[in-house]
Amino acid sequence: MGIVAINVSHVYLTGTPYAKPALTEVNLTVPTGAFVGVIGPTGSGKSTLIQHIAGLLRPTSGTLRIGDTVIDVDSKDLSSLRGRVGVVFQYPEHQLFEETVIKDIAYGPRNLGLAEDEIEQRVTTALEWVGLSPELAQRSPFQLSGGQMRRVAIAGVLAMHPEILILDEPTAGLDPAGQRELLDRIYSLHRQRNMTVILVSHSMEDVSRYAERLFVMAGGRMVLSGSPQEVFQHPDRLREWGLELPETIRLMERINQELAVPLKLDRFTPEA
Ligand code: ADP
Repeated sequence: MGIVAINVSHVYLTGTPYAKPALTEVNLTVPTGAFVGVIGPTGSGKSTLIQHIAGLLRPTSGTLRIGDTVIDVDSKDLSSLRGRVGVVFQYPEHQLFEETVIKDIAYGPRNLGLAEDEIEQRVTTALEWVGLSPELAQRSPFQLSGGQMRRVAIAGVLAMHPEILILDEPTAGLDPAGQRELLDRIYSLHRQRNMTVILVSHSMEDVSRYAERLFVMAGGRMVLSGSPQEVFQHPDRLREWGLELPETIRLMERINQELAVPLKLDRFTPEA
C-alpha cells in the first residue's frame, strides 16, 4: 500500500486554551513497497505523523490516503486498515503481556480472526523473520534478554503481515551489532514481501543505510525531503535542527574541504 498526505495539519486539544499545533500542512508521498526514513528532533511531529498514517489520529485539516482508505477530519470507520498497517512503537517490549512468546506473537493474528493453523504458521514464520529460535516459543517473554523481548514484540506486528510497517526508533537501547542485524532483517523482509516501510529515527546513520528517501521534520513541518544524498547536501540546515550527518558523510565532507584548500607547500618543508 502507498501513502499520500496532502496538507495534513494536526492540533492537539483543538478548541481549548491548551491547543497545540503538532503538524502544519504536511505533504508526503510514499509509493507502495518503498523504504523511507522520517527524521527530526524530539517534538518535531514524527510520532503525530505516523499515528495519522496508522489511522490512530485524524487530521484537523487535510487528507491522507492509505491504499484505498481516505482519512480526513470526518473519517469514522478506519477498520479497513486493521492489520494492514503495523506500528512498532518505541520500546515495544513494554507491551508484552502474555505468558508465553507464542501467545504474545499470536495475539494480533488471533484478533484478525484467522484459523488456528494459519496463526501457528504465522508465529513460526515471524520468529524466523526476527531471528529467534523456535525453542523460545514456549518460554515466558519476561525470561528473555532485552534484545530478544524487542524481537518478540516486533514479531507480533510482523505476524499480522502488514502491508505498511512503521517503526518508531526500533533499535533504541540495543547494542550496535543487534541494531544492525535487526534492521537488516527488516530490510530483507521489505524486499521479499514488497512491504512499505517507514523508519522513524533520529539516527541519520540508520535511516540513510536503508531508506531510499528521507523526510525531515522540524517544528511540525516537513522541511526537507529527498534521497539521502540530496538531504545531505544541506548539512548546515540539518545542524540547525540538531541533526548530525552520518559519520561516513562527515568524513567525506572533511576530505572535500581539505581538497578544496590549495596545497600549501610550506606544510611539507622539513623543520630546520
Ligand atoms: P516527535 O515524535 O517528533 O518527538 P511528537 O509528534 O510526539 O514529536 O510531538 C509534536 C508536538 O506535539 C510536541 O510539541 C509535543 O509536545 C506535542 N504533543 C504530542 N502529543 C501530544 C498530546 N497528546 N497532547 C498535546 N500535545 C502533544
